[in-house]
Amino acid sequence: MANEPARTLPNPEDVLDLSTEPPLKLDLVCAHCEEKFSGEFEWAFVNPERGYENDGWDGVVLSRIVTCQKCGAVDDYRVAAGSRFLLMGRLLGRAVGNSSKGRVAFGVSLLWDGSVVQRPTRALARLRQLVGENPNNAEAFRRLGNGCERWGLMGEAVQAWRKAVALNAADVEAGCSIASYLLGKGNDLPEGFKYLRQALGALPAATAAKKELRQWGPALVRLLLETVERTDEPLALMATWSGGRLGDQQLVNVSSVDLHELEDFETLADFVSRPDVLGLALTSELPKESPTILERLLSGDSGGGASQLLAQGAPFRDTVASRAHRHKRRAEKKRKQKLRKASQRRNR
Ligand SMILES: [Zn+2]
Repeated sequence: MANEPARTLPNPEDVLDLSTEPPLKLDLVCAHCEEKFSGEFEWAFVNPERGYENDGWDGVVLSRIVTCQKCGAVDDYRVAAGSRFLLMGRLLGRAVGNSSKGRVAFGVSLLWDGSVVQRPTRALARLRQLVGENPNNAEAFRRLGNGCERWGLMGEAVQAWRKAVALNAADVEAGCSIASYLLGKGNDLPEGFKYLRQALGALPAATAAKKELRQWGPALVRLLLETVERTDEPLALMATWSGGRLGDQQLVNVSSVDLHELEDFETLADFVSRPDVLGLALTSELPKESPTILERLLSGDSGGGASQLLAQGAPFRDTVASRAHRHKRRAEKKRKQKLRKASQRRNR
């Protein structure tokens, strides 16, 4: 078992741009029955460390599982010579700067045990095997889920992620992945919200343990924003965070924000990722007063430490501030829309 899962499946969103070219049309030759057939693919990775066909693999990883149209063999093919030239041409064009990111990239895909991804079916078989060998390892299930998602087996992906969260409730990534799917294509708002709530609750401990890179905080907040926009139910975020020291006493801030009133979700994304945040919880209980310490903090109108505690309940808005507030609100609406668009690109 590798301790350092250095390079796992490359993230197509990071290295490719699927918007600039039509899908790749590639010719394949079935290794089982020699039938030649063609298909369309979202993307292809070419392994630069691999000479063609020295062990039955041509060094190409495609975006989906391929079934021979004649004999039904699954993922048992080679990329035809003409299509290999096409892939190399795209790579060269990119290398000399004639084209920007496209659908083809050099990339070595390693599974988390260090084995090289060749065909999706074989990679998935290995991921399933790893789960069998490590039945209590949440990461094994999460990685299987990620692989299944990558190659379009969403049912199995969700099943694997569920198992990962069941084994380790603090697996923020798996929770975020399920929530993202169920709140989107999976179209199950209550169940998706359940996982979102759980992942958000697990975030501070994961951040403290440095297990989570900063990306999961923003990802969860994007999902939260989508949820807030789809429901009229009262929804507030309750947060606990360190407020510095007063003498030898550790001050702790506890405050909440009404999410339907919150304007700046980007600041919230930064906030939930802070190392001094100790607890996060979603609740239907709205704050009794406005603005709360947390609301002031998120609107950029707050001093530090003890002054935050003292400021609670202090009058905040006068007429001028209120007008500025409305202006800001309009601008924020646009930003929210932008943020929502950004969230449609998966960040995995
Ligand atoms: Zn065949």
